[in-house]
Amino acid sequence: MQFELTQVLERLAYNFHWAWHTPTVDLFRSLAPDVWRATHNPAAVMRSVAEAPDVLAAHADRLVTAGRDLDVYLTHAPQVVAVPRVAYFSAEFAITECLPIYSGGLGVLAGDHLKAASDLGLPVIGIGLLYRYGYFRQRIDVNGEQREVYDRLDPDAIPLRLVTGSDGVPLEVGVPLSDRTVVARAWVAQVGRVRLYLLDTDLPGNREDDRWITGHLYGGDSDTRLRQEIVLGIGGARLVDALRVLGLEMAPEVYHLNEGHSAFAAVELAADQMRTGGISNFFTAHQQQAERVAFTTHTPVSAGHDSFAAELIEAHLGKYRGQLGLSRDQFMALGRRDPGADEETFSMTVLALRSAHARNGVSQLHGVISQRLWGGIGVGVRSVQPRIEMEAITNGVHTTTWTGPEMGALFDRSMGCAWRLEPHELATWRDITRIDDEALWAARTAQRARLFERLDGLSPHIAAEQALVIGFARRFATYKRAGLLLRDPDRLFRLLDGPDRPVVLVFAGKAHPNDEPGKLLVKQIVEATRDPHFRGRMLFLANYDVELARLLVQGSDVWLNTPRQHLEASGTSGMKATLNGALNVSELDGWWDEAYAPGLGWALGERAPDNNTGEEARDWAEARQLMVLLENEIVPLYFQRDAAGRPQEWLGRVRRSIKMLAGAFSAHRMVDEYVARIYCPLASGPAFAQDVRITGIRESRPA
Ligand SMILES: *Cc1c(COP(=O)(O)O)cnc(C)c1O
Repeated sequence: MQFELTQVLERLAYNFHWAWHTPTVDLFRSLAPDVWRATHNPAAVMRSVAEAPDVLAAHADRLVTAGRDLDVYLTHAPQVVAVPRVAYFSAEFAITECLPIYSGGLGVLAGDHLKAASDLGLPVIGIGLLYRYGYFRQRIDVNGEQREVYDRLDPDAIPLRLVTGSDGVPLEVGVPLSDRTVVARAWVAQVGRVRLYLLDTDLPGNREDDRWITGHLYGGDSDTRLRQEIVLGIGGARLVDALRVLGLEMAPEVYHLNEGHSAFAAVELAADQMRTGGISNFFTAHQQQAERVAFTTHTPVSAGHDSFAAELIEAHLGKYRGQLGLSRDQFMALGRRDPGADEETFSMTVLALRSAHARNGVSQLHGVISQRLWGGIGVGVRSVQPRIEMEAITNGVHTTTWTGPEMGALFDRSMGCAWRLEPHELATWRDITRIDDEALWAARTAQRARLFERLDGLSPHIAAEQALVIGFARRFATYKRAGLLLRDPDRLFRLLDGPDRPVVLVFAGKAHPNDEPGKLLVKQIVEATRDPHFRGRMLFLANYDVELARLLVQGSDVWLNTPRQHLEASGTSGMKATLNGALNVSELDGWWDEAYAPGLGWALGERAPDNNTGEEARDWAEARQLMVLLENEIVPLYFQRDAAGRPQEWLGRVRRSIKMLAGAFSAHRMVDEYVARIYCPLASGPAFAQDVRITGIRESRPA
């Protein structure tokens, strides 16, 4: 019996499905509360109870039930017909906090894409890198400055398995680098029904500096970054083929490059075609391969687009391109906007565009902006017109990952399991109106109270049943304007200081280690939270990660987003907050530009701003606009309470916002759109007619 229970626990721990299954997480926590609190790692829980038969026996029923839930999930996949197999490449994936191989929105999106693909029963595999030191953990020192701490990740200690052949020998992939071959192994994370493969070069046979290729995420210099992208792209493509040879996966029909980091994969596909497909000309092979490559661009900000000097490319890939029969200039042309321009660096975004017959941006507005930025670039160096030049597929979030337990219980009661299985169906969220004020307010208050427990230094006079919590959590890049609220400190002080109207402002976010202005912004916010005027009402939570993100989006009443217009490609944290009953106050940019409608939340900026206004003047104008909204509309509405002490009108808006937005901005809808508008058209070849059904969620978007 104990042996069986141990096996059930192991199966539960080693399938990341628990990351979106609350009862299983509750079970892990209950089995070993201290271990869970310290690690959020079920493999650690498993080890700690291995020698404790009494603990396992005491949880026997719950273990069996959770095991059965997982079995049902794995064996009852939705029927999908003729959906292409996809290999999804990304430099980061955020599945859950014990696998810290992400820095922010891009990784969260990739993780949510895999989870939704799993729920929908789609044949997708993920390809990424296993960073031994991941992204940094943020600490704030006594001077209010960000300190970066790197923890070493032991892959054997988390729910990952080394990929081996049937003989038990680890799979090894050789990656060409300069005149040597770097060897990578692969780890696999089982994410529900899909698998995520992660390459790792930290092997004794590799040169010391090559062992560090998979050391840090976005930590290194340009040289390291290029070597990482070679391992991800070329190594990743070789890994996909090796998995096929071993019989572990079927060959994909579509290669999806999530951001340009992995674009060398397309070059390797062409190289493979030359080795095995009898094509001797690289350009012919490359043109042909582009038929199965999709590329998603994620930001209009130039720092988000890697490019490398010609010398660096030549140093690491000179031999490889020689084997492909390419001259230095011919290879460089693949990454140049103007193939003949010697002075241009090698852009990974340009390489991705030249390698993909399907491209897309991540919101409707970003699609338009991306078309403007990249529209002239065709496929190959002869710039053939791409079949899908620039689609717009708005990002979405994985509903059950981000919905808090109390709100989730309400959804269960009013909608059954539909919101878990089919959050993207129009009909699902209609029944939200069945949730009455009392239940909704109780759930909101419980989630707010959980956030309050984590707010060290919160004023003791502020009660969770009363307060309005404004959340602001994101990367501290200056264009996100974290300081917009602080432009007029006296006015902000008056807003926060209302004795009968407690308003709490919570900030979180990391600045990239090399981003000095971003780090200064962190310091300014932290200093403000220590100012006697704001202390206890304005707080900064260190180390924004997916765990903190859940806490914040679940506990906030207002979700604030203040990017400078046209720089936020989509933004997803506001979608997570919406699921939990927060109302958005956001710049009309990214997803909010299409989601906003009067009555659902509030908009900053204007749809058609006067372009003659300078940046600084516009920042001031929007700072004022934000204060006016808060003072005149948001705070009064929230504190307009009925006889039972509940904000009746506010709660009405919350219901309306969930009903209108939860499905339209779900990862299920997003993945469904990728299938219909990118994967199927690509896999069907050039003659494809655009007649694939798209779930009718678009009609549910507010006009
Ligand atoms: C969702 C999320 C993001 C992305 O949110 P944005 O709105 O795009 O800033 C970044 N970091 C973490 C930890 C997240 O959970």
